[in-house]
Amino acid sequence: MSWFFDFKSSSTDPVLSTQLPVIESHAGKIYTAELFKEVRHEILKAGELIVSDKSEVGGRKTYRLTKYCKDGYERSVVYDGSTFECSCKRFESRGIPCSHIFYVMKEEHVDRIPSNLVLTRWTKDAKIQFLNSSNCNDNVDLNTIAEVRFGSYCNVLTELCKEA
Ligand SMILES: [Zn+2]
Repeated sequence: MSWFFDFKSSSTDPVLSTQLPVIESHAGKIYTAELFKEVRHEILKAGELIVSDKSEVGGRKTYRLTKYCKDGYERSVVYDGSTFECSCKRFESRGIPCSHIFYVMKEEHVDRIPSNLVLTRWTKDAKIQFLNSSNCNDNVDLNTIAEVRFGSYCNVLTELCKEA
């Protein structure tokens, strides 16, 4: 239950982890730190959105979104089961998914940012590839390695507990 107490103790911050933690942690794993901040902000803004209309034609769902306490605001997101397209065109201009897309991801129970909405140049992979290509293998993301190690320790411990 520690997440519950974490939530309480930091409820004054705009903590996103309470809203879409699965997408947020996925974003944290793929984006560079700088871009992650921006992506988090978009996830946060998804909290202000309200669906005003939803329709489906031939497997393509269209969500019309308005914003809490904001007159005249309207965006529409089309989801065909694999790709998202938003009328604000933020992905086309900035290269990251917008708050509207994150909102529809929540509605559709999508827990990963689709790969077609992730530009390689904004990802950690791009950094690693660059480092590898310039022969600086020592600089490979130590956090990622630590994370993987921690994960396998946890698995071993779980197995031990079962045995006990
Ligand atoms: Zn949008």
